Amino acid sequence: MTDLQLRALRWRPFALPMSARFQAASGVLDTREGVLLQIEDGDGRYGTGEASPMPAMGGGTAADVVALLKEHGASLLDGTDHLGSAPGAAALRCALDVAMLDLRADAGDRPIAALFSEEPAPWVHVNAVIGGGPPEEVATYGREAMDAGYAVLKLKVGLASLEEDTARVAALREACPEATIRLDANCAWDEDTTLRAFEALYRYRIELLEQPTAPDDIEGLARVREKAPMRIAADESVDTPERFERLLELRAADFIVLKPMFLGGITPCVEQAERAAEHSISAFATTTFDSSIGIAASLHLAAALPTDAAQGLGTGAHLGADVTAGTLLPRAGRLALPTAAGLGVAPDPQALAEVATAGWTEVAVGA
Ligand SMILES: [Mg+2]
Repeated sequence: MTDLQLRALRWRPFALPMSARFQAASGVLDTREGVLLQIEDGDGRYGTGEASPMPAMGGGTAADVVALLKEHGASLLDGTDHLGSAPGAAALRCALDVAMLDLRADAGDRPIAALFSEEPAPWVHVNAVIGGGPPEEVATYGREAMDAGYAVLKLKVGLASLEEDTARVAALREACPEATIRLDANCAWDEDTTLRAFEALYRYRIELLEQPTAPDDIEGLARVREKAPMRIAADESVDTPERFERLLELRAADFIVLKPMFLGGITPCVEQAERAAEHSISAFATTTFDSSIGIAASLHLAAALPTDAAQGLGTGAHLGADVTAGTLLPRAGRLALPTAAGLGVAPDPQALAEVATAGWTEVAVGA
């Protein structure tokens, strides 16, 4: 990790309001707390990454990330792993990985995606996300997304009864006959409910169902996949190495969902995608409702993946503020790779000042 001369590490915590409360089976999200991290190299260039754990998903908190940064300081840049399985570790690893990649790609005058793929995609298809809400609201959001140019809609299910979800899916399909519809249950169902959901929902032409069952139950996921009339994507089931290996062994999914924030950065996600491909499992990337720094990281990952599947990167619209001057938003259902080298986006001092919850803390390398 140290072919670049590194001068300092600095970080600053922030809290982003969400533009509307976003509801999924995993919880309600109204503020997104994170930590912006920058590594300064010997030429005075900054590489940027974001560490925004998702407390509701068990990944620790932004305060945990700050505590780890205070504890380990610039030793985090020495190329060894100091973090183990501490709360906040995966998100902090992600920020460090992305910031280093930003520096490295910038030094080579190319995008991060080009470090992982000889021909990164210039843009990727993105799905719109629709959270909880009654059928009429779901239909309206779906129609608005289609009018804005999306072709793929992802609806959160598992918040209500299967009967209510069926009514929501039916309303979405009726309002958007031409849409590709995928569903995400965020682990809310057991095997029996999942089988009933297949019966109730397959007529609505569902592209894929994300994570119907509990994250640990890889065997159950493999069993429902055998009977599925739609493709199955594993999301929460791939965020530990043990689960991931078991998933490959049983080929328990058709897709895996890669989240740099949960998996420790772009580099481990690319490695997982390569391992999955050996088992004929595809991969797509999503954000975890990050700022535009985190969205850009997932975008570089997505552009390096060999898939045409829509990617879960359309989350910028849910942010009520950002750490960058503009938010990375899809146009006509697509998100283009930034043209600048490296990560291609950087924090804006004024935007950051408005959402920061403390000032920068900086530690010199070797101090
Ligand atoms: Mg998911």
